[in-house]
Amino acid sequence: MEPVLELSNVNYAYHTMDGETKALNDISFSVAPGEFVAFVGPSGCGKSTLLSILSGLLKTETGQIRVNGKDLKDSTTNIGYMLQHDHLFEWRTIYHNVLLGLEIQHMLTARTRAKAEELLELYGLKPFADSRPSELSGGMRQRAALIRTLVLEPDILLLDEPFSALDYQTRLSVGDDIGQIIRNAHKTALLVTHDLSEAVSLADRVIILTKRPASVARIVPITFSLEDDTPMHRRDAPEFKTYFNLIWKELNKND
Ligand code: ADP
Repeated sequence: MEPVLELSNVNYAYHTMDGETKALNDISFSVAPGEFVAFVGPSGCGKSTLLSILSGLLKTETGQIRVNGKDLKDSTTNIGYMLQHDHLFEWRTIYHNVLLGLEIQHMLTARTRAKAEELLELYGLKPFADSRPSELSGGMRQRAALIRTLVLEPDILLLDEPFSALDYQTRLSVGDDIGQIIRNAHKTALLVTHDLSEAVSLADRVIILTKRPASVARIVPITFSLEDDTPMHRRDAPEFKTYFNLIWKELNKND
């Protein structure tokens, strides 16, 4: 199958008054359609930089990025970006927060409105459509943020530590919940996380990055022999610990 995303020898450096900070070093990998890939690596290694490049916010210096066979800058593939904080506006209701991306991109039509309502219903937020963000739990807010991203019908989802602002307990259930939503929607997803358990419970592959400037240290395919392969079941499966330890060791090797 043709990869949806293909990076070849991508490099990136920040240039500031104090000089140059090299963030990405010769990054190459590809992602298959519908695949869920998690990126782990030491803090400050360049994970967010990588997602910013894929979202088009930053431009690579050298190397090539192809999306559905086209150069990233010529690509018409819709890429959604979900950040650590939900960025819901308190002066808007949940419904109007969900519509925000559509408004900004001039995509608000009867069809997309109906789609937003359908997603609110599907993910249990319909009763809160007229509520303000502060009336919702952290997990529900994150669901609303995901709906705001999904309603734009992205082909690829970039998730930058989307659960890290939540407390541990909530993070577990929201991570599992949102992971399932993304899988059921058959989206290709790239998740940056510092939480190895999250990576192993959600991903098809984990890409381990070295300390800054990030390069690919190792790519670990994750397979569980589970009949019902959900993040929750993965956490209880015997393979879970093996993967966790393998990734942990590789990360500490790079210290
Ligand atoms: P991570 O997401 O892995 O924590 P980042 O991609 O945010 O790491 O950052 C990688 C490195 O690039 C860090 O050392 C950071 O200090 C540096 N960096 C990030 N953003 C900028 C910027 N706007 N200007 C200069 N340096 C930056």
